[in-house]
Amino acid sequence: MYDVAVIGYGPVGMVTAALLGRAGHDVVVLERYPTLYNLPRAAIFDDETMRTFDRLGISGGLLPTLHVQRNYEWRNGAGELLIEHDFAAVGGQGWAEWYMMYQPYLEDALDGVVRGLENVEIRMDAQVTGVRSTSHGVDVQVEGDDAAVSARYVVACDGGNSFTRGALGIGQDDYGFSEPWMVCDFHLTGAADIPKARQVCDPGQPISIISLGPRHHRFSFMLDSADSFPVEREPDRVWARVAAYVDREQAELIRVATYTFRSLVADRWRSGRILLAGDAAHQMPPFLGQGMCSGIRDAQNLAFKLDAVLRDADDALLDTYQSEREPHVRAIIAKGIELGRVQTMRDPVAAAERDARLIAQREANGHPDKMRFPGLGPGLRDESPQAGHLMPQGRVESHGSEGLFDEVLGRGFVLLVDGRDGAALDASATEMAAGLGVAVHHLTNRRLTTEGITDVGGVYGRWFDETGRAAVLWRPDFYILGTSGVLSDVPSLLDTLAIAVEPVQAPAIVGERIRP
Ligand SMILES: Cc1cc2nc3c(=O)[nH]c(=O)nc-3n(C[C@H](O)[C@H](O)[C@H](O)COP(=O)(O)OP(=O)(O)OC[C@H]3O[C@@H](n4cnc5c(N)ncnc54)[C@H](O)[C@@H]3O)c2cc1C
Repeated sequence: MYDVAVIGYGPVGMVTAALLGRAGHDVVVLERYPTLYNLPRAAIFDDETMRTFDRLGISGGLLPTLHVQRNYEWRNGAGELLIEHDFAAVGGQGWAEWYMMYQPYLEDALDGVVRGLENVEIRMDAQVTGVRSTSHGVDVQVEGDDAAVSARYVVACDGGNSFTRGALGIGQDDYGFSEPWMVCDFHLTGAADIPKARQVCDPGQPISIISLGPRHHRFSFMLDSADSFPVEREPDRVWARVAAYVDREQAELIRVATYTFRSLVADRWRSGRILLAGDAAHQMPPFLGQGMCSGIRDAQNLAFKLDAVLRDADDALLDTYQSEREPHVRAIIAKGIELGRVQTMRDPVAAAERDARLIAQREANGHPDKMRFPGLGPGLRDESPQAGHLMPQGRVESHGSEGLFDEVLGRGFVLLVDGRDGAALDASATEMAAGLGVAVHHLTNRRLTTEGITDVGGVYGRWFDETGRAAVLWRPDFYILGTSGVLSDVPSLLDTLAIAVEPVQAPAIVGERIRP
């Protein structure tokens, strides 16, 4: 019997299999297609997602295939600038805030990680046709196989039309958002000066223009009706649509696809030992570039909890997956729909009013505020200040090594103590943390000691100064479990973790350190 069967080998299934495999569990992946999909869908990902890719050891290899974009402009049909969003070269997670990619390169890299794990078996050409819960696990039926594949848990990452979700009779909350778009992808063969991130808010024809990394580009056109796709997809018509930006000397048209962008959230993300992740659990329009990113957050959230449960923690821990993730995803969906509705107004009068309003706002305020996502819902976190929010990542130095925190000090459960004034965790709390597999680090003042870590970029000192907290405990998915205002409260913070994950015999994720 496998520990986990992952259904679907899209980006979310790949990250789930990689994280669980690296934690030492026996995983089988079941994918219906014989090969990787090899065509792009997602285009953009954020710094949090890159932090996950870095955890998997692929950030360095990916970087040359990516484009880092620093702004996103919305223009009206006349070309006037309505809004310009800025993105930092180094964001809160220690990586650029906006990467643009050609998805097959990402999937090749993730596939390489998964294939490098001896305890993960990948079965391509394995269409799942049935799932049945048993007393100790789940039997998964694959088309053409006599015997079922048995696993203790199943993570269904089988996409928006999820077979598993349907087989379990799980309904979806439909936000009622439905827009047909035609997505045209190009391979750049010559020099072309195309906007890298532009939304053309023309009520006559809303267009999205996005770089897919250094050698590819995407133009997406909102259609009046999906019925017009068979005509509109004709290459000559596509080339006519993009003529103002690129021609056949500069690019090759590699794909035209139609999508109806919708917003849906599954009612239940867990049914006993079966969990839904990625598009199987939630779908959103791509206006914020957050669909895949949200699925990768699911994978991170689930992987460390499944790791604990497979090591005999109470499996009620898995109930915190949906309670934490759903409010976060819903906030992103709501924001995406709101932005989408503003971008794609088809009524010329309403669009002209929008243009006047946005131009006036831009002239008054310059750049809009950065978009902030909320923290997690209730779950494996306490109610202390900052709990449930992402812990920023900065550069540190420790014992002669300098780099991003994750690279220098490892990933897992981390307790960081503000020791700049000489404060230190006492022996019993330190021992309690060690027993739970929590790595304890002290931010120190180099004038006082050579021990501990130095805050090279000032990220952690600023965080402690702004929050006024004395210690912070974050989880393997980078979200804060809780904080303490005084060090004497740290044991109760650790108790929150202990109650949920004990008995943990050998927390493998905690042992995962500097990438090879
Ligand atoms: C045009 C477009 C642009 C987008 N842009 C962005 C973006 O910029 N940024 C972003 O973050 N997201 C974006 N998204 C969303 C993103 O593509 C999805 O959220 C992401 O692909 C979901 O990944 P997944 O692994 O959950 O599902 P999928 O990628 O759909 O993978 C599901 C896998 O399951 C397999 N499968 C299905 N049924 C079975 C079965 N019965 N048995 C076995 N295998 C099965 C499928 O073959 C597939 O390989 C975009 C989406 C679209 C359509």
